[in-house]
Amino acid sequence: MPEGHSVHRIARQFERNFVGKQMRASSPQGRFAEGAAMLDGREAVSVKAVGKQMFLEAEGDLWLRVHLGLYGAWDFAGEILIDPTIASANGRMGQTNQRGTDLDAPIVDAPILDAAGENSLASIGAPRRARVHVRMSEQTKGLADEGSEWPPPIVGQVRLRLMTDITAADLRGPTACELQTPDEMLASVAKLGPDPLVGDPIENEERFVQAVRKKKAPIALLLMDQSVVSGIGNVYRAEMLYRARLNPHTPGRDVPEEIVRQLWHDWVRLLAIGVETGQMMTMDDLSPTDYRAAMASRDDRHWVYHRAGLPCRVCGTEIALEELGARKLYWCPRCQA
Ligand SMILES: [Zn+2]
Repeated sequence: MPEGHSVHRIARQFERNFVGKQMRASSPQGRFAEGAAMLDGREAVSVKAVGKQMFLEAEGDLWLRVHLGLYGAWDFAGEILIDPTIASANGRMGQTNQRGTDLDAPIVDAPILDAAGENSLASIGAPRRARVHVRMSEQTKGLADEGSEWPPPIVGQVRLRLMTDITAADLRGPTACELQTPDEMLASVAKLGPDPLVGDPIENEERFVQAVRKKKAPIALLLMDQSVVSGIGNVYRAEMLYRARLNPHTPGRDVPEEIVRQLWHDWVRLLAIGVETGQMMTMDDLSPTDYRAAMASRDDRHWVYHRAGLPCRVCGTEIALEELGARKLYWCPRCQA
């Protein structure tokens, strides 16, 4: 399930490649044919991500709302502009490149790509094998365009294809893909809990603290309740609770206020790292070697997530796994007693 950082990255990709441009829209699969026809030919005006949802504004007061859900993903093809602030392998900020399939030499400052494809720019959402050429526009200049068709062939069930003259974005498997009026869009956003990257930071924190402190549901459920806080999924939930050494079953109203604030600040921090690197890096203070390993492999970057039965990295106790709210919850019974 894509968590909030992925959706913010997708929105940024649309910002760079679609906003200000006229879009061609189609629904190769047919399930969004009417909506695509409405979007076709309009200019993309703005885009925002709130939690796990993306809202793309088209000229004429029309909004596209997309929720990827468990299986959705966007695949980008063609010329894709890369965010110059993407953190590089060694943590420096600067101009970095996504290695294209036809570029042989590794680029020294390239971000470390995860084997599972979590931070792939070609496909953002549910991890899947990248099948498209992702190249920086500057690098494609003058290069023979080998093996890449334009427009890219339709592969699988593409609900919506958006294109400019040079970039294509294919949406597959979303939970929601619909058009909205401005009022409907605002109503959708109003239902969502605070997102650290949207709106006023102080107001956001207060909303989160108040929402948690008045509920008796376990904190582990509240963190994934999108009306309480936006963008947290199963990975961040488990990791944040471990980082706070908090028992997942603690009712929200019994979590001390300072801990609730600490959770919020941790989410602010982790989300920023996730948006920057494309990965849910939840460990701090790693040595450069450990950092590289952790960026390259999920198994090396989490405290408890996906570690059921393995010894806790801190106390050695077996990490517990239980079902909570129909999702798997990982935690250390000793550190989080
Ligand atoms: Zn432990």
